[in-house]
Amino acid sequence: MNISNSTVKEIAARLGFSLVGFSKCGQLEHEIDNLKTWLSKNYHANMNYMADNLEKKSDPGLILENAESIISLGYNYYNDESHDVLEGHGKVSRYAWSKDYHIILWEKLSELIDELQSVDSEFNAKAYVDTGPVMDKVWAVKSGLGWMGKHTNVISREIGSWFFISTVITNFIFDYSKIDTDHCGSCTACIEACPTDAIIDEYVLDSTKCISYLTIENKGEIPAEFNKHFDDWIFGCDICQNVCPWNKKFSVLTSDHDFLHPVNKQLNFSEIDEMTNSQFKKKFSISPISRARLKGLKRNAEFIK
Ligand code: SF4
Ligand code: SF4
Repeated sequence: MNISNSTVKEIAARLGFSLVGFSKCGQLEHEIDNLKTWLSKNYHANMNYMADNLEKKSDPGLILENAESIISLGYNYYNDESHDVLEGHGKVSRYAWSKDYHIILWEKLSELIDELQSVDSEFNAKAYVDTGPVMDKVWAVKSGLGWMGKHTNVISREIGSWFFISTVITNFIFDYSKIDTDHCGSCTACIEACPTDAIIDEYVLDSTKCISYLTIENKGEIPAEFNKHFDDWIFGCDICQNVCPWNKKFSVLTSDHDFLHPVNKQLNFSEIDEMTNSQFKKKFSISPISRARLKGLKRNAEFIK
């Protein structure tokens, strides 16, 4: 087994990953118990996929034979442009300003694995970007990328929380990273700033109240109780991350070309109102905004205008 931490880090950095950490594979016990408790309270709303594959989520060894390690990677997408929008427009969460990050990251992860296999053909791996049966955030914390903030995003001391997490399960052994401690301290800025009180307790998010969920994954009506609380967000919401002091101080501009040149920072209500399905498919074919579907965007525009 001939691959060192620095070999992985060097290739990952060349592919544009800002953070790389390593943790030992093993069973997740209290993390799965926490997930089960959270699910039992229906805080996942209608995102039933979150309750799928709990066995695999608790044990990456069920996903990859001879799994030994997890490599967690962070891909910085921070663009410092403000969220200010023109009259008659809705705000879009920063992660969706450009191309769908799954497309960007799947390509990079496949290149990373290919390169590592060319270093040692015994290297075997399975990689995921938040859609697989792995607890990406839990492994990112175990791999030392950062700590889980009270808003439930992972925060890095180096770059804040504006990064996508990828998880690679491998059959190789590495030197494991030191876990970072929680640096939220007495801060509660995210909890106070959330306009819909979705962070119901420190480190606990109720998705049924979160604008991100309500504007994207939610397929029903938006409950009237949130009327006038959406602060013009038409797709997603970044408020809890925008107010985080770690982001204010440590965010670093991305070097990714797509994220440096946003195409969907704001959406025009009238354009959405008049848009046909074929126009929607054409405009958002490689954008995360396609996830909301046209019906969802029209509902969101109607709700906030
Ligand atoms: S994304 Fe917005 S609505 Fe959701 S928890 Fe953060 S501030 Fe609240
Ligand atoms: S805003 Fe404060 S409490 Fe919330 S995640 Fe950031 S540091 Fe932690």
